[in-house]
Amino acid sequence: MAQDFKLYDNLFIETNIQSIDYDAVILILYPEELKVTLPRHIDSFINNIVKIDKHVTKTPTVWSCDYVSGGRIILAPTGKITGYHDARVIKEAAYKGMIRALDAGSKKPLLIVQNVVNFPDSQLVCILGALEALYTPIQMRERDNTKNFIKIGFHSEEKRSEGFEKTVRNAIALEKARVFARDIAGGDPERMSPENIVQFVKNKFEGYSNIAINVIDDETTIATDYPLLSAVSRAASRIERHKPRIVEIEYKPSDPARVTETIILVGKGVTYDTGGADLKISGKMAGMSRDKSGAAAVAGFLKACSLLKPPHLKVIGILCLCRNSIGEDSYVPDELLVSKSGKTVRVTNTDAEGRFAMADALFKAGEDALKELNPHIYTIATLTGHARLSYGDYTAAMDNHSAKATNHASKIQFSGARIGEGFEVSIVRPEDLSVNVGKCKGDDLLQVDMDAKCRHHQLAAGFLIKVGGLEDKNVKYTHLDIAGAAGSPPHEPTAVPILSLCHVHKVLL
Ligand SMILES: [Zn+2]
Repeated sequence: MAQDFKLYDNLFIETNIQSIDYDAVILILYPEELKVTLPRHIDSFINNIVKIDKHVTKTPTVWSCDYVSGGRIILAPTGKITGYHDARVIKEAAYKGMIRALDAGSKKPLLIVQNVVNFPDSQLVCILGALEALYTPIQMRERDNTKNFIKIGFHSEEKRSEGFEKTVRNAIALEKARVFARDIAGGDPERMSPENIVQFVKNKFEGYSNIAINVIDDETTIATDYPLLSAVSRAASRIERHKPRIVEIEYKPSDPARVTETIILVGKGVTYDTGGADLKISGKMAGMSRDKSGAAAVAGFLKACSLLKPPHLKVIGILCLCRNSIGEDSYVPDELLVSKSGKTVRVTNTDAEGRFAMADALFKAGEDALKELNPHIYTIATLTGHARLSYGDYTAAMDNHSAKATNHASKIQFSGARIGEGFEVSIVRPEDLSVNVGKCKGDDLLQVDMDAKCRHHQLAAGFLIKVGGLEDKNVKYTHLDIAGAAGSPPHEPTAVPILSLCHVHKVLL
């Protein structure tokens, strides 16, 4: 495989499930009624085991088996699959199967990647699930980069097929993008300070001719062009490495004439959220280094584009990096700020910093979009605790009026179900816009209505639409609140919604 498609040095396609190059085989065990074909060497062996012990359909098990590499097979069951399930059952089974194989002492597992008619992207999802199990957090890797495996094989059929090679390439590129995003999102507040993220992003894109990076870190420029971001960052700006930065990453395909769509993504990159002067108390602060997961996902999506090279897309990613610190120069409630869009905004709760961090970049995106071909703007952010309260671990997807005309949020939801990321579609209602109107004389907007009892993730979208100047513009805009979906410690970052974005915008090969 070409250099670009190297995730780790030792990933291979293997056509022989008895190959001596591997020391164990992992098989996803699907419910009988799905009629998934088993490799012919082992079908009677597997059927016998299932007859002996139904428990194998519940939890991963290891069996001695002479017909496969290494003489052992790990059965990773999906469990019962109902009409309520989506492709995530496959991802989870593959993930557990890989973990079980490594636990068993396997260093060279071979994963059997079956085709499942009910799940059209089953092979891709299966490989991604297994790869996810291999992820080691960046700070652990930086201390000791010894891998817990020697090689991984993927087997689909006894003949090499172009289709499967494509699937493996897609999976590796996507996982590479997700590792990149997980590294940023999961790095601690110092390892991934704004300054360090800039360096990390630059290093990771070095040598990619289809990517251009522009960093805005000049204090005066930030204060003038990103006044709300600047206010959030005021306490942090005393410390060089915590100063705010805007990172613009642009992907351009080789032939601009083939571009049919421009995607502009604005990501919330709050490297640490103390809440600011409205300090997070009673232990609510722990885990807030994940408040940069939106920016991490944007960077990851650009990574996927740089590798998979979609010819029909131009993509601009904007990382809004800052830190919501508390200190003598903290911004405080009651301050009246003026956004780049010219709106006066009253600060009401400094912990609602995410919408401020993105507001001016979003406005700029809206202006720039008018010059682009068929633009679609996104904001991706761990924005509201309310998104998690409403939907648990799922991303809330919200369209503005233009994006709603094409049912875009529903399309992402569909792609997510296909590729193993979950979305809920929320509707931005008129009251979600009007609730943001300022209450004091002359105020255009308030940061957040502290009296609002409900609809906080929808009204945050309403704020972004208003402050971003997108209320009347005919530009497609979709806000993705990943507060519940991004993954909180002790779990690894999920890197959502990279897979679904790649799926819905046809970035895959
Ligand atoms: Zn906050």
